[in-house]
Amino acid sequence: MPSHLPVIVVGGGAAGLIAAGRAAELGAKVIILEKNKAVGRKLLISGKGRCNITNNGDINTFMENYPGGGRFLYSAFHHFFQPELLQLLKRYGVETKVERGGRIFPASDKASDVVQALLNYARTNGAELRTQTEVLEIWQADGAVKGVKTAEEHIEGYAVIIATGGKSYPATGSTGDGYKWAAALGHTVITPRPALVPLNIQEEWVKELQGLSLKNVAVTLTHGEKVLAKEFGEMLFTHFGVSGPVILTLSRLVVEKENRRELKLHLNLKPALDEEKLDKRLQRDFQKYQRRQLQNALDDLLPKRLIPIVIRLSGIEPAKFVHQITREERHKLVQILLDLGMTVLGPRSLAEAIVTAGGVSLREVNPRTMESKLVSGLYFAGEILDIDGFTGGYNLQAAFSSGYLAGESAAQR
Ligand SMILES: Cc1cc2nc3c(=O)[nH]c(=O)nc-3n(C[C@H](O)[C@H](O)[C@H](O)COP(=O)(O)OP(=O)(O)OC[C@H]3O[C@@H](n4cnc5c(N)ncnc54)[C@H](O)[C@@H]3O)c2cc1C
Repeated sequence: MPSHLPVIVVGGGAAGLIAAGRAAELGAKVIILEKNKAVGRKLLISGKGRCNITNNGDINTFMENYPGGGRFLYSAFHHFFQPELLQLLKRYGVETKVERGGRIFPASDKASDVVQALLNYARTNGAELRTQTEVLEIWQADGAVKGVKTAEEHIEGYAVIIATGGKSYPATGSTGDGYKWAAALGHTVITPRPALVPLNIQEEWVKELQGLSLKNVAVTLTHGEKVLAKEFGEMLFTHFGVSGPVILTLSRLVVEKENRRELKLHLNLKPALDEEKLDKRLQRDFQKYQRRQLQNALDDLLPKRLIPIVIRLSGIEPAKFVHQITREERHKLVQILLDLGMTVLGPRSLAEAIVTAGGVSLREVNPRTMESKLVSGLYFAGEILDIDGFTGGYNLQAAFSSGYLAGESAAQR
């Protein structure tokens, strides 16, 4: 039976809100402590404000999408997975839709609807929310948790769930506080590092394309002669280099590389065509626009902003008439379209990463309950754990599943 003392949930993000809702639903007294003025700031900016809640893949597909720590989530997923999450959201008024790549979003395209639903889940079940309340320390004695300390008071609890998130996008409130507490309580914290992070690129032409987003491209990451990985999908040029789903997925390998000197990205602008087919395609376009200058003859093939860059890199005079283009020059264009090289300088900072890799070591947390194996009554949920997923809704599902299980286990202590 739940004691008269509360379950204290530290952090009102994805993991904390669902943990609080589930613990309260099971009859526990629950207090959520959130240092911001309002809950769910990171959730609100997730998926560009649309919140990619989860993915419609099965558990095996999910497992392939956590480069860090996915297997730890088996129990949590068997307990509360994407169908249960969608049902819960539906109960609180959020209808959902599936998009490309199995990504699931609220039908309204509003992340705020997801935050509101989670808040309603917690509140209607009786959880108390205290915002602008920053936890400074976890209070423990003799290997058992006693509660938490804020600047004003000691709050006693029979269980504490740390759901303070990672260390990226610190303006949302995730400043890595939970890592310090976990370490102070004897937990191993795997050094937090950026995952899903944009990349700095050396070539200046990349910066000229700032804001241009490309769909259906293939990007290969190489180190010297070695191919490290290839991804297909969407990417974006920025003022410092590149970002977007394909780049974010590849970024983990860049972060992991100690020697980053020979890292290169190879952008294939026409992955559906091989060299021969692309050459034929160019010949057709050149036939069609034979009286035009090259700079005006590539509109059918490329986004407008890319045309001058591709021509510059090919070394061909942009004003040259298409009928004067030599076979060698056309072949050079084909090469560039299939392999536009970019020198990787390195990842952007942890603050700019979508997700933090590293965190509380999974070896010291029980995957069936999310309880610490070192301090009884202490639970971890969400991004604070040493788990990170690719883009596609995998990070939020990890936060929801681990949060739900932590809330349930804490209530059932
Ligand atoms: C720009 C962006 C877009 C993203 N888009 C997606 C997406 O579409 N799909 C997806 O799956 N994932 C996405 N992610 C990742 C996903 O948002 C996170 O993995 C997820 O929100 C983690 O949830 P959490 O509850 O563990 O932590 P958070 O959501 O970070 O919540 C932690 C909370 O704890 C509070 N807190 C911290 N320290 C204290 C303290 N000392 N006292 C009190 N409160 C404290 C914070 O203020 C915060 O509210 C995105 C991330 C970013 C940055």
